[in-house]
Amino acid sequence: MRGLRRTPVEVTLVDRQNYHLFQPLAYQVATGSLSASEIASPLRAVFKRQKNVRVLLAEAIGVDLAAHTLEVGSLPNGDEGSTLAYDTLVVATGSRYSYFGHEDWRTHAPELKSLPGALDIRARILRAFEAAEVETDPAKRAAWLTFVVVGAGPTGVETAGQIAELARDALPRDFRSADTQQTRVLLVETADRVLGAFTPKLSSKAFHSLQTLGVTPLVGHTVVDITAASVSVQNAAGAVEEIPARTAIWAAGVTTASFARVLADAAGVETDRAGRVTVQPDLRLAGHPDVFALGDMVRVGEKVLPGVAPVAMQQGRYVARVIAGNEARPFNYKDKGNLATIGRSRAVAEVGPIRASGFPAWVLWLGVHLVYLIGFQNRLLVLLRWLFSFATHGRGARLITPR
Ligand SMILES: Cc1cc2nc3c(=O)[nH]c(=O)nc-3n(C[C@H](O)[C@H](O)[C@H](O)COP(=O)(O)OP(=O)(O)OC[C@H]3O[C@@H](n4cnc5c(N)ncnc54)[C@H](O)[C@@H]3O)c2cc1C
Repeated sequence: MRGLRRTPVEVTLVDRQNYHLFQPLAYQVATGSLSASEIASPLRAVFKRQKNVRVLLAEAIGVDLAAHTLEVGSLPNGDEGSTLAYDTLVVATGSRYSYFGHEDWRTHAPELKSLPGALDIRARILRAFEAAEVETDPAKRAAWLTFVVVGAGPTGVETAGQIAELARDALPRDFRSADTQQTRVLLVETADRVLGAFTPKLSSKAFHSLQTLGVTPLVGHTVVDITAASVSVQNAAGAVEEIPARTAIWAAGVTTASFARVLADAAGVETDRAGRVTVQPDLRLAGHPDVFALGDMVRVGEKVLPGVAPVAMQQGRYVARVIAGNEARPFNYKDKGNLATIGRSRAVAEVGPIRASGFPAWVLWLGVHLVYLIGFQNRLLVLLRWLFSFATHGRGARLITPR
């Protein structure tokens, strides 16, 4: 969008939510460090100065590639639907978490993909500590103080680390009966190491940092069942253990948002197992030069790029250049590296030839996330929150809001 600000085109941005969510910090909302509005910017505010952009709060539900029209639904005035004509269509509907065919687990183990998801998780985590405070049966109290995070990618690692810090650092003096220091945080991962996208050495450092924080990483374990009161895990030898736990959080595999299927069917193009739509090297759909697709929802030919923000951002800028007539080469992803934070003063970073861990990596992580957060006001607010939390070990956004 922003790449088209000097191009003489009219842009209609259709999104079913009225804000841009900075997903990398969603887990900080889920664990009470940040407020929702600090990581989400209203789209109208983002584009208020870009006069060639019109924002439409609606859901894309269908497309007619021959007629060059997009069908939208859920209009805010209550109308059932409407049709938009386009000269060029750019689709970037992202991804969502996949429960590997166990949709029933979604109720007991919400995911951190959306703002409502983050607020739901925050309420569940805080409510679990409240439940432990009033529970007198030791076994039941232990279950309320057991948190299971599924998936040890950056989101799972960051979330597990934050819950452990919350329990050991921020909460102990706030509760009278529950000893929040007894909290168990289990991080379950099928692979044999955490942060599989990082080098084995950094992955091992992250593993030890997690343990120091009080997280138990269960690598080589797979979740085989989740209920309201327990999570069952299977180890590499096939033995299944049922762990009493009242709070589970899902941060495992992803699949594309539903509109990817609609687009792929309309265009007759292939999708891979995760539902990614296959695009050509210039991010167009085969046979439809006026339709681009990008971000988490695509693979470029057979190549699957990492599902991270830099890929989506570089592809967005690339498509803007193609539309403006300033780009003739195929898309080429420039990998700028990987960052993950594990907790206060702990992170791992792979940036170009640099491999860092501990405090320097954490400072780098803070800087990069502040730079990419949208809006000066949010950057300032988040920086102040972080400084305040660092100094006081406190969490300012610990509100239980209705689900
Ligand atoms: C919890 C979490 C943490 C992450 N942390 C990091 C990180 O630290 N670093 C990193 O690089 N990446 C991170 N990522 C990944 C990164 O956020 C994604 O790769 C990136 O956002 C993908 O951008 P996108 O534009 O493809 O999709 P998205 O950013 O998901 O945007 C999709 C948009 O499409 C809208 N939409 C979907 N369907 C429809 C429809 N039918 N109609 C209208 N609108 C629709 C959605 O409302 C949304 O606004 C994280 C992701 C998550 C979930």
